[in-house]
Amino acid sequence: MAARIIDGRAIAAQLTERISDDVALLKERHGITPGLAVVLVGQDPASQIYVRNKVKKTRELGMASIRHSLPEDASQEELLELINRINCDPKIHGLLVQLPLPGPIDEASVIEAIRPDKDVDGFHISNVGLLSRGKRGVVPCTPLGCLMLLKHELGSLEGCDAMVLGRSNIVGKPLANVLLHENCTVTIAHSRTRNLAEQCRRADILIAAVGRPALVKGSWIKPGATVIDVGINRLTDRNTGRSKIVGDVDFQQVSQIAGAVTPVPGGVGPMTIACLLANTYQACCRIHKLDDMPDASRV
Ligand code: NAD
Repeated sequence: MAARIIDGRAIAAQLTERISDDVALLKERHGITPGLAVVLVGQDPASQIYVRNKVKKTRELGMASIRHSLPEDASQEELLELINRINCDPKIHGLLVQLPLPGPIDEASVIEAIRPDKDVDGFHISNVGLLSRGKRGVVPCTPLGCLMLLKHELGSLEGCDAMVLGRSNIVGKPLANVLLHENCTVTIAHSRTRNLAEQCRRADILIAAVGRPALVKGSWIKPGATVIDVGINRLTDRNTGRSKIVGDVDFQQVSQIAGAVTPVPGGVGPMTIACLLANTYQACCRIHKLDDMPDASRV
């Protein structure tokens, strides 16, 4: 039986419509416009596209968005000084520095320089700590998007066996924490995990965040499982030179066995950006202590 396709584009569109209403209400009730600052260092083509997209989507929802571009050879001091200025700007509620950073700049120091309540990526150590304690901080956008997709598909996740493939600080680890707080029994697998296929076959929920094209095969899937594919891998055809984006999951095989699966593109990607918008609106409400406003990240 073919799996249901979890339509991330449609679910993200619903979420952004809701945030747009919340932003309108915020302006009407309190006269405040949420503001996002996006900092790009260097000329990386993929980063430029991501940043352009984030700024555009933020403005479409009626929020303010400012892009700051620094040259490739900007020093760490210059970047920290810019972050400090944005931290103090009362019109800006969300601040993100597009990663990866070029050259010798120390990524960890840069992330730690962001004011935690403006850290809409949820990467600051304070937000990491709050998430691990199950307290309200900022949840990173991709894990939050995965949670929303799972809740949309399954409702309660309580008691589910969840396998997270990948242990990165931006996806795998925070996602494992998020699922733990939903009362899943969570396993994290990584490049040194033994008997990976066998371990995956026990999972009711399998999330692949590895960065290896079509790693997850149909034979790794428990029949009826829900599979979320976070991977974004660009494959270029040697003959035609054309490139396409594929996930970490062998979609053809897995969709024959799983109960539901996200496509790539059109699954997790649109949710990540929608959750950035939700986090920006939410940061604004939190900074201004507006307890009467709806929670944009409600699932
Ligand atoms: P990463 O490189 O930081 O981490 C990859 C993880 O996969 C590591 O923990 C590693 O141990 C594990 N791994 C590598 N090879 C493995 C193997 N053969 N078997 C099991 N585990 C293995 O990557 P990341 O930043 O977490 O991103 C993962 C993927 O998700 C990438 O393709 C990235 O482009 C994509 N991504 C997508 C979104 C989105 O919005 N859709 C957001 C962030 C990342």
